[in-house]
Amino acid sequence: MRRKRVVLNILWLIILFLIPMPLIVILNTQLVASVSDLIVYDFGIVAYIWWLVITYLSTRPSWLDRLIGLPSMYLVHGLLGTIALIAATIHKFLSFSFDQNVKNTGNIAWYLALFGFFYAVFFMSGWLINYFKIADTLKKKLNHIFKHQVSIWIHRLNLVVIALIFFHVQLIVRIRSITEFMVIFDTYTVVILGLYFFNKIRLLTMNNGTIISNESLNSDTQELVIQLKSQKKYHPGDFYFVSFKGLKKLGIESHPFSVTSAPTNSPRSVTFTIQNVGDFTNEISKVPTGTKVKLEGPFGLFDKSIRPENVETPIILYGLGTGIAPLLSIAAEYAGKRPIHVLWTVQSQDKLYYSDKFRNFESKYPNFKYYEQIHRIKKQQLRNLLSEGEILKGQFYIVGPATAIIEIEDNLNSIGVSRNRLNDERLTL
Ligand SMILES: Cc1cc2nc3c(=O)[nH]c(=O)nc-3n(C[C@H](O)[C@H](O)[C@H](O)COP(=O)(O)OP(=O)(O)OC[C@H]3O[C@@H](n4cnc5c(N)ncnc54)[C@H](O)[C@@H]3O)c2cc1C
Repeated sequence: MRRKRVVLNILWLIILFLIPMPLIVILNTQLVASVSDLIVYDFGIVAYIWWLVITYLSTRPSWLDRLIGLPSMYLVHGLLGTIALIAATIHKFLSFSFDQNVKNTGNIAWYLALFGFFYAVFFMSGWLINYFKIADTLKKKLNHIFKHQVSIWIHRLNLVVIALIFFHVQLIVRIRSITEFMVIFDTYTVVILGLYFFNKIRLLTMNNGTIISNESLNSDTQELVIQLKSQKKYHPGDFYFVSFKGLKKLGIESHPFSVTSAPTNSPRSVTFTIQNVGDFTNEISKVPTGTKVKLEGPFGLFDKSIRPENVETPIILYGLGTGIAPLLSIAAEYAGKRPIHVLWTVQSQDKLYYSDKFRNFESKYPNFKYYEQIHRIKKQQLRNLLSEGEILKGQFYIVGPATAIIEIEDNLNSIGVSRNRLNDERLTL
């Protein structure tokens, strides 16, 4: 898996390098300017084209998810945004124009991009909050004002950045007169923005499920069962972006939730286990049966990494709180077919709502082991809980909050589990 990921990343880099090339080659061969000026313009081209690529990535293309996974796609999105901003900064400070409109469109776009970048790093990525407790605490405090949906709207300012740069280029007479350049530049813009808006309209009109059951598992967790309109195949452990239709309080927001059901047992319905943690999830218990649901997806790579030929390889499913949801799906799909060891830690006794299901598997299948605990499992305890075979050969699937996952993976690695056998899903994107 790791080697495949490295190859894919190199392929990515080559593609990303090639996309702005036609524009760079045309500009550098047809515009009369000094070499240093041309290089500065090239930085501007790279920034713009990569912003367009980022816009395409934000449509969450499913072919790319199955190739590299949504979290990697978000990572590429973030890294590309960073490099594009650096390129745009070089372009802004080293280029010159007498035309006030050219200057204004470029400057406003740059300030907006700069603001958008710092906002996204703090509120939308795990780059700071996963590693600095103080950033995490501050973000949680500010989350009441800057809710995820507000952040998404602020992030859409990038479309304004793109529009401004589009006009910035159209206003430069010397460039506008290079027909080949303008044809490619306009085509890139129209195609990417077309795909972006087409995807938005598709999502708005999508209606692919109906709620048939909504039950409380405890005081803060709901189990939702959704009847699928068509039999679009999902895999064990996948996740969807879920939104509800016709409910004012929940609006058109879509949030990611993992499937708890196993596709072999429930091909026509999906079950979600949802913990109330904020404005959106707090409303879930009030959603009536019969409500129409929009499911974007499925996404996820867990099942792809469970290779059918490795029937002897132990699968260790390590869930933290609601992180157990996709792991129950995998356990239900593979129980009896593969050696499975489930570890589930929660914050209090009432959160062990799936205990009976796992105990049932344990009593039915000799190669199924289950362990539950209130509070985190310590390193020494992990060493005792896992068999030698599991440590040396097991495939691990860990789901929960990002900070906890980082710590658990370090612990597992330090007792001998190699990092290429650690698969995780962090409950924040
Ligand atoms: C791949 C994945 C699978 C998940 N599976 C489950 C699950 O099975 N059960 C479950 O209870 N929770 C799951 N979550 C977490 C769930 O998406 C959030 O708890 C929920 O979106 C919180 O929304 P809120 O408005 O109630 O809370 P808020 O207070 O708005 O959000 C709390 C945190 O959740 C994250 N979040 C909020 N909205 C989104 C969004 N649209 N996209 C990405 N992150 C968001 C943000 O990091 C935010 O800080 C999953 C998350 C991811 C990324």
